[in-house]
Amino acid sequence: MHLMEQLDPSETWTDAARRAAQRERLAAMLPEVVRTNPFYRAKLGESATVEAWPELPFTTKTELSLDQAAHLPFGTNLTYPPDRYTRLHQTSGTTGQPLRILDTAESWTWWKESWRSIYRAAGVTAADRVFFCFSFGPFIGFWSAFAGAEHIGALAISGGAMSTQERAAAIVATRSTVLVCTPTYALRLADVAVEAGIELSRSGLRVSVHAGEPGASIPATRSLIEGAFGVAAFDHTGATEIGATGFSCSARDGVHLIEREFVAEIRSDDGGVADEGEGELVLTNLGRWGSPAIRYRTGDRVRAVRSACSCGRTLVKLEGGILGRVDDMLTVRGVNVFPSALEGIVRRFDEIVEFRIEAYIERGMDALRCTIEPRAGADAAGLARAVGDAIHRDIGVRAALDVVEPGSLPRFELKARRFSRRREVETV
Ligand SMILES: [Zn+2]
Repeated sequence: MHLMEQLDPSETWTDAARRAAQRERLAAMLPEVVRTNPFYRAKLGESATVEAWPELPFTTKTELSLDQAAHLPFGTNLTYPPDRYTRLHQTSGTTGQPLRILDTAESWTWWKESWRSIYRAAGVTAADRVFFCFSFGPFIGFWSAFAGAEHIGALAISGGAMSTQERAAAIVATRSTVLVCTPTYALRLADVAVEAGIELSRSGLRVSVHAGEPGASIPATRSLIEGAFGVAAFDHTGATEIGATGFSCSARDGVHLIEREFVAEIRSDDGGVADEGEGELVLTNLGRWGSPAIRYRTGDRVRAVRSACSCGRTLVKLEGGILGRVDDMLTVRGVNVFPSALEGIVRRFDEIVEFRIEAYIERGMDALRCTIEPRAGADAAGLARAVGDAIHRDIGVRAALDVVEPGSLPRFELKARRFSRRREVETV
């Protein structure tokens, strides 16, 4: 299938071609931004140039948040006068106050063009009907995905303000072919449809595109989704303050970044910066001059590789998608563990409907507790034992296992919060 895929010329750039193209965009953008954007003029200096790139400081979300709090309502990361902007979206605020971000008509078109790359890689075309399981709140992801579907000529269908069962029925009734939602919500939708006697695996769905969590890049989670809907499931990465940044391709073993529109740098644990390797992903967007993100520390831990992909693209690939938030990395008895690795184990057991994982300190040692909610009728004790064994075998740590009654753990529509960390000493 992928041999027939039409690639954008930027998707097969050599390293030299990529660097030259990105440099040209930066050389055009930087003077314009530092001339009129108060935030970046103060941060980078009025004479910042692309030649000085390695010396330019990083940007953090905390800086943008503090700036916005001090300069309400929009902060000073604005390159143009307020009346030039046409859309306002905000971050989810899971890590503090929501951040308001403005887009111009031009940068909104830029969002839609990024979505063209994402849909193309998933094989979505103008002939598709794309169903969005979202409430269309203030976050940008769903709005941009919706506009992007319309932009490529597909039929974009809103599933806003519907119950989960109504959405399942609407997917069948509209003969939708593409499903867009979080991985967690896809699994919930599948469960609700089964209970309601709606056979989504026999609907017209053939592709699903997921974001908000790394699930679609976690093999066990992806195969649950693919089995429930009869689709090929694709991952997508993006953030309100940066853009629609990447997508999984036919190889589906990671996420390619759209390097036509983003400069990707990897900040390693020792503070060094490279264009591949393991560390924190640092991104610069090239097409959102009105509210740019320049050397923005995403807080995402990634393993970036530059080698030919079976899909034909030379775009950098984040192996296994985003591994986790930098802050979410657990060190359990000397082993670095990301929540996504634990999800990858728990999701292999399809009798587990929901789960929680908590890291804590026990007698001075890092420890894990995993709470699982089995399906009604499942062998709960056997399941707990099997999950505990799998975690021990794959990660090398013993986790305490708790089993709760069916229906007791909360369900999520947006980003799931399944992982938590307690710092205080556990007294047992
Ligand atoms: Zn690929």
